[in-house]
Amino acid sequence: MSTNVPTTAALQSARIAVLGYGSQGRAHALNLRDSGLDVTVGVRRNGPSWEKAAADGLKVAEPADAVKNADLVAVLTPDMVQAALYTDAIAPNLKPNAALLFAHGFNVHFGQIAPRADIDVILVAPKGPGALVRREYEKGHGVPCIYAIHQDASGKARDKVLAYAAGIGGARALLIETTFAEETETDLFGEQAVLCGGATELVLAGFETLTEAGYQPEIAYYEVLHELKLIVDLLHEGGLAKMHQFVSETAQYGDLTRGPRVVDGATKARMKQILDEIRDGRFAQEWVAEYKAGNGNYRALKQKDLNHPIEQVGAGLRARMPWLNPAQPTLTAVPA
Ligand code: NAD
Ligand code: MG
Ligand code: MG
Ligand code: MG
Ligand code: MG
Repeated sequence: MSTNVPTTAALQSARIAVLGYGSQGRAHALNLRDSGLDVTVGVRRNGPSWEKAAADGLKVAEPADAVKNADLVAVLTPDMVQAALYTDAIAPNLKPNAALLFAHGFNVHFGQIAPRADIDVILVAPKGPGALVRREYEKGHGVPCIYAIHQDASGKARDKVLAYAAGIGGARALLIETTFAEETETDLFGEQAVLCGGATELVLAGFETLTEAGYQPEIAYYEVLHELKLIVDLLHEGGLAKMHQFVSETAQYGDLTRGPRVVDGATKARMKQILDEIRDGRFAQEWVAEYKAGNGNYRALKQKDLNHPIEQVGAGLRARMPWLNPAQPTLTAVPA
């Protein structure tokens, strides 16, 4: 059994460039280095990440310089800047037979990046935020990863992708093979329909229903936002069974009989439309166009969220619950 666990062997003599030093970039770079691999972080010289990576004891270079001579380049910048980064810094500098690695398939799958034919194109996506990927690695564990091979020019893409997943700690936990299409489409669907989009709209609709009926906003906040974490943690740790085990019979009966009236067949039909828009590229086209046009609509919609009354109520209540530590990135609850 243990003979089948992937190791970092295939990257032992490789030079790895990690472009971007945010949530995933920092965790990958530190874990790869601590796995004994040769890592250079590629970030802009005047940006805030340069100092941070250097302070963490890593080699740092401009992205184009990090790519030169690299055998594997991990692209861990925000998705919307990756296409320009590929054109400007990666494509002109990457060696033939080198590997280009992503943590999300968006740009390759939706044709924003058309990778050179002479390079490997692979993906490793940890199923958790960077802070957790780092923390679990330091404890001797790992976060499960999904991985994919889009293009195998060297004939060694599989060895490389598995070695990278091992290097960041994923092989200590679980590795699941996927495709760029499956990773990209399910990731977008999850965050749109359920995790970010679905969950926040459910909370806001619940808060508005209670406050419009005259209940105090503070009480409404606790019932529909604050306590959501308790339920999500139960689901996360033990599925539906654990939630049923730890909530009252009254809550269970209300869940089983009322829940399907809130989220019903019409909701599911709209989820299917949202999935269709992801699969046929309409969402990607819209988001890329929005980004290129300066994000006016994105910013306005975000401001509307931030102006919602639940935000003011929440800020006041959270100030009285210092254990929530609002300045710290959360380890368990960030989908991406
Ligand atoms: P992030 O926003 O946390 O960090 C991005 C980093 O990229 C910045 O810290 C900076 O160092 C660098 N950067 C920003 N703009 C740049 C530019 N114009 N040129 C060069 N470098 C620039 O990003 P993230 O959340 O770590 O996401 C990175 C990738 O990982 C994305 O493809 C994302 O979809 C994927 N991913 C993220 C998570 C997650 O938990 N955040 C999980 C799985 C996959
Ligand atoms: Mg929302
Ligand atoms: Mg209650
Ligand atoms: Mg995701
Ligand atoms: Mg995502």
